[in-house]
Amino acid sequence: MSLLSGASSQLGRTYSRVEAGLTKPYLYVPPRKLSTTLRFLDPSDSPDLLDYRKIARLFETSWKHQHKQLPRIKKIFAVSLPDHLNKSYDEYKGFLEARWNGVNEQLMFHGTTRGCSLGEEEQDITLCEEMTCSLCCILRTSFLVSMAGSARRGCNRFGSGIYTSSASSTADHYAIAPWLSDDKAIIVAKVALGKSSIHYRASENLTAPPWGYDSVIGKVGIDLNDDDQVVYRNEAIRPAYIVIYERPNSPSVTTVPRPAPKATRSNMTTKTKSSTSSRCTIM
Ligand SMILES: [Zn+2]
Repeated sequence: MSLLSGASSQLGRTYSRVEAGLTKPYLYVPPRKLSTTLRFLDPSDSPDLLDYRKIARLFETSWKHQHKQLPRIKKIFAVSLPDHLNKSYDEYKGFLEARWNGVNEQLMFHGTTRGCSLGEEEQDITLCEEMTCSLCCILRTSFLVSMAGSARRGCNRFGSGIYTSSASSTADHYAIAPWLSDDKAIIVAKVALGKSSIHYRASENLTAPPWGYDSVIGKVGIDLNDDDQVVYRNEAIRPAYIVIYERPNSPSVTTVPRPAPKATRSNMTTKTKSSTSSRCTIM
């Protein structure tokens, strides 16, 4: 048999066209992922069950404010980010690994404004273009330090950084739901804290962690009522899950009117500005 016609046999062994150097092995290159997608975690489906249980347990055990009843989780979605956001996060983790021989990656909660019906039903997984929806802004671009700095009074305890909490009940305080919606949503973010500087007092002028550190942790104590984890680099944090839960039975529940359905950003600049103002009212 000719090599050019297919496999060949020599001393009892069969050689393929690839081994013979006549063709190159087929290499599948998946298409680049360019946008964020959400995937409903079905607790009745075994491939999703471990993920669902992990996040549900984290949410429930991290509910620290006893004056607010632990709400019922209604749905959990996994966030799949564009390739470039995953790449920059992985590169930053590599930087921390080389610097400290450890990343100190944690799952933390972040409450923000939801201006659409995202997550209310299993099929509600399309990010909106509404100007008041910080949740979709964050899911689309991940967190941006440039959006920090104009938060409402008292929120920027550690300056212009990206804030998360280890307590789901703290993030709930900043999770603003559309008017008349029965559901609230908070982001579970993976945060590469690296080496953290521990603070018991606010330090509102920070624009970066103290020299030699990668993040700031605010501890409950002298003048802080809630814990904060603050990073000052975009690539140090990524949204990983969305938890949809019933409104806690609390008189301090905050709502915002659901915007008109056709309210859209006119361009990317407007989108960024709206995201800034909305996101700065969170944590
Ligand atoms: Zn939205």
